[in-house]
Amino acid sequence: MENALSLLERMLSQHAGELRVEELLPGAPQHETPPQRALLLGSTQPHAPSCVVVGGIHGNERIGVDVVVAFLQTLLARLEWDDYLRAMLEAIRLVIVPIANPSGYVAGTRATAAGIDLMRNAPIDAPQAHWLAGGQRLSRHLPWYRGRAMAPENAALAELIERWTADSPITLSVDCHSGFGAVNRIWFPWAHRPDPMPHLAEIYALRTLFRQTYPHHIAYRIEPQCQHYMIHGDLWDYLYARSLARGRGPLLPLTLEMGSWLWVRKNPWQIFSRHGLFNPQVPHRRRRILRQHLVFLNFLLAATANAPAWLPRRRERDALHADACNYWRAHFEGGDEAADASRGTSRVAGGAASAAEAPPALPPKDERAA
Ligand SMILES: [Zn+2]
Repeated sequence: MENALSLLERMLSQHAGELRVEELLPGAPQHETPPQRALLLGSTQPHAPSCVVVGGIHGNERIGVDVVVAFLQTLLARLEWDDYLRAMLEAIRLVIVPIANPSGYVAGTRATAAGIDLMRNAPIDAPQAHWLAGGQRLSRHLPWYRGRAMAPENAALAELIERWTADSPITLSVDCHSGFGAVNRIWFPWAHRPDPMPHLAEIYALRTLFRQTYPHHIAYRIEPQCQHYMIHGDLWDYLYARSLARGRGPLLPLTLEMGSWLWVRKNPWQIFSRHGLFNPQVPHRRRRILRQHLVFLNFLLAATANAPAWLPRRRERDALHADACNYWRAHFEGGDEAADASRGTSRVAGGAASAAEAPPALPPKDERAA
């Protein structure tokens, strides 16, 4: 099977007229590092709704890049014949960053060549982060290094996303990862604090929409990231908080965590392979994963385009927020050990969070897309 990098290069040359390419950071000779690139499809109007798809923030989680590139491949093939897709993309904008961490991708490392973990690097602190794995500034030679300033990869990514989404009435984003647990998860903010995000009602509505639309799809566990562990420097918390502060359309960021331990369980030998904990090693399994997540990515695109149809109305919002709090609280109390541990952490950190910082204010309701 063609690897993601050569497939990407081929698509860029074959669809030069269709794809708008922005080079965010230049490539480097070391390991033939490609540039950090954004690929844009659809509307250039500032007020268009936006959908953002990112892969390869952690360089060793290559399956995330594969999933994003496979999605792009399908879209480009459909644009050859699918007028409905073309019409949808006239109304919204799609921003794709297939390899957010090119130096880590080519070296097969989680961090960048400078040793920075891009998902611990944004200027946002957790009141009580997981020790070490929550982000550290002891040494760039240890994992989960936060760095001293925003890494160029993150600065470029944040600038790109804010430039293209600042005036969007709604932005849905998904960032593709692997390596956590045995089930597929979709995480939403917060990652740095344990309380509900201000747009919990919207996330709950999106979850309901997905489940009603695809009742037979593999179950994603959709849950707040802080349920598992709290971290410093989460880029999506940072961009979400900034979208709240702008007070226009919210950026609702999702993280797809593919449950890679399942692939190890089915093929135990792959644990001895260099990338085995994070990536499927058997071709048929890789193909299945590439098929599987297309459904969700296409769903997000359609949900972006049709946001007024599912975003909660003003009068429904408070009740839905309460339902969502109740739903995820029950989830916490489900009885499994991880949930119990998280609940304990949340209690302690909840006090710290409220003392340190009040939750960001909600955008005015009349400015939402609904
Ligand atoms: Zn990751």
